Amino acid sequence: MSIKSNLQNIKSQLPELVTLVAVSKTKPISDLMEAYNAGQRIFGENKIQEMAEKWEKMPKDIQWHMIGHVQRNKVKYMSEFVNLIHGVDSLKLLKEINKQAEKHGRIIDCLFQIKIAEEDSKFGLSEEDVKKITASDEFSELENIKIIGLMGMATFTDNMLQVKDEFKYLKSVFDNLKTQKLKNCQLEIISMGMSGDYKLAIECGSNMIRVGSSIFGARNYN
Ligand SMILES: *Cc1c(COP(=O)(O)O)cnc(C)c1O
Repeated sequence: MSIKSNLQNIKSQLPELVTLVAVSKTKPISDLMEAYNAGQRIFGENKIQEMAEKWEKMPKDIQWHMIGHVQRNKVKYMSEFVNLIHGVDSLKLLKEINKQAEKHGRIIDCLFQIKIAEEDSKFGLSEEDVKKITASDEFSELENIKIIGLMGMATFTDNMLQVKDEFKYLKSVFDNLKTQKLKNCQLEIISMGMSGDYKLAIECGSNMIRVGSSIFGARNYN
């Protein structure tokens, strides 16, 4: 199957309000251009330098999403152009994003990453952490960032019941936080679901899915 037909196949099954992020990490620009020429405009990467290189070389109407764990010292390499940072998991990181966004006169949209998996290897905040961060004076002073939703990664398992519980949990955290008037927050996006579980994620309330291998084929990390 070609990248174009993979994309069309996935898109034809998506409800209208679900946004597809094409996860293009490790893939060559020729593959991304194939998706671009098929109409895809949102791409997700998990390494800042790789994303910056692709941004430099590719058409400027692409929206770039950082979906991976963000190191503070690298924020500066994406602050000029990144459209959405999915993996925000600390106030320290937000302060750095704010500082770099200010240099470019921008407001950078961010998602709080919530820990929904049982694996220790996955990053993320608890609902309490989010409440603490958003209630702090330091947070309310950040004028160049905006929190527009939440992101989560389910446990890597074949047990779809567990994955479903984790997705439902993220949706409930989202619904709870949405009822609170949090500063600098306008919660609209629930980013959850990847190639293996995006249909389930949508059933559980996702409106932004991050799909890589089902579009571009398996990744080769060598
Ligand atoms: C790689 C990655 C994806 C896409 O995974 P696939 O299984 O290839 O669809 C989604 N989200 C994050 C955070 C990723 O790192």
